[in-house]
Amino acid sequence: MKKFLSLLKNHNAWRQNCVNLIASENVMSPFCESLYVSDLMHRYAEGLPFERYYQGLKYVDEIESLAEEKFKEHFGANFVDIRPISGTSANMAVFSALAERGDPILTLGIQGGSHVSHEKAGAAGILGFKSFDLGFDGESMMIDLEKSEKKIIEIKPKFIVIGGSVILFPQPVKELRKICDQVGAKIIYDAAHVFGLITAGFFQNPLEEGVDIITSSTHKTFPGPQGGIILGNIEKDLQRKIQGKVFPGVLSNHHLHRIPPLYFALEEMEQFGKDYVSQILKNSKALAKELNNLGFAVLGKEKGWTESHQVVVNVEKQGRGDFVAKKLEEANIILNKNIIPKDSKNPENPTGIRLGVQEMTRYGMKEEEMKKIAELIKKVILDKEDIEIIKDEVIEFRKKFQEINYCLKEN
Ligand SMILES: *Cc1c(COP(=O)(O)O)cnc(C)c1O
Repeated sequence: MKKFLSLLKNHNAWRQNCVNLIASENVMSPFCESLYVSDLMHRYAEGLPFERYYQGLKYVDEIESLAEEKFKEHFGANFVDIRPISGTSANMAVFSALAERGDPILTLGIQGGSHVSHEKAGAAGILGFKSFDLGFDGESMMIDLEKSEKKIIEIKPKFIVIGGSVILFPQPVKELRKICDQVGAKIIYDAAHVFGLITAGFFQNPLEEGVDIITSSTHKTFPGPQGGIILGNIEKDLQRKIQGKVFPGVLSNHHLHRIPPLYFALEEMEQFGKDYVSQILKNSKALAKELNNLGFAVLGKEKGWTESHQVVVNVEKQGRGDFVAKKLEEANIILNKNIIPKDSKNPENPTGIRLGVQEMTRYGMKEEEMKKIAELIKKVILDKEDIEIIKDEVIEFRKKFQEINYCLKEN
């Protein structure tokens, strides 16, 4: 028992001493965290507000519908489902509402940054879809529209999925809309990574640009509890169909304790999101620029490296992704290896690493600190300096950034 608790304590203390750069993670504000633990975490609520299968939910019904309304209003959407407990289950529900076993779909492909849930190994494969790649240009780090048009016309997919786990630049939604309309294909924008950027009015607004449905996680650049969401402007029939796939399709209870912090994370983004996200974007550019200056092969160079929270680096010459990510972990710099366009579909050891600045930005870091992070990475990877000394330097550096910003204060 003692050992278990000390492991937990060690983890909590360690990550406060790290430069956390995992692009899919974030931290909730102390206020949202305080709301996460409530009696709601003990309860069951199958179905939709006011149409439940169980009793005991008269307050939950109102709480859940207030949250739904807030998201609908913020995004100008006629449909939202906040019940998916993860981005993957949001995808599972939407995918299964739009196509049948054996149907073809088109995605970015793993090398183009798509999430495993879009592919054969994940949700799309479990549902029996045939996933084909749209076509992606590794130089510009953009969808190749010419190739994609050919594929869409030839394959006539039920839907295409854009938006991915590697996403540096806005996607050509308007162009794809025109092409998809020729064959009656729906467009799903998986905004898991960029949902916070979109919420704050940066990046692109996929619904305004013409996608049918947004699926997302609620905990990457959007600083909410871990969970999923579906948003769209769609006809009633499809709304009902998706709701039926969420429950009783891919889940029964939907983890009610997520809903209060989800509501207030959106409130925080409405109040502080512009400041938060504009700093994220300054920081990612600063980090990319400095890594490039120090000799790293940062992707997306011709377009200014990044317009999202992410920076992606080809570390083929430095020992590849696995080695670099593990070496940096020894110095308390946490990031992940990642497949990049030049890799094969299933590489043993991908050549990329992916960095995200959203969490450290939330802890108050600015451009100056991004330069420092790039230097620390250089010292470990290029200069091969003593790892223990750099680790101490990282711990000292992180000490000044312990408080979460851009958020509501506890009251
Ligand atoms: C992270 C991610 C998901 C999955 O989200 P989970 O909440 O982890 O299930 C789906 N799509 C994309 C593009 C992602 O990056």
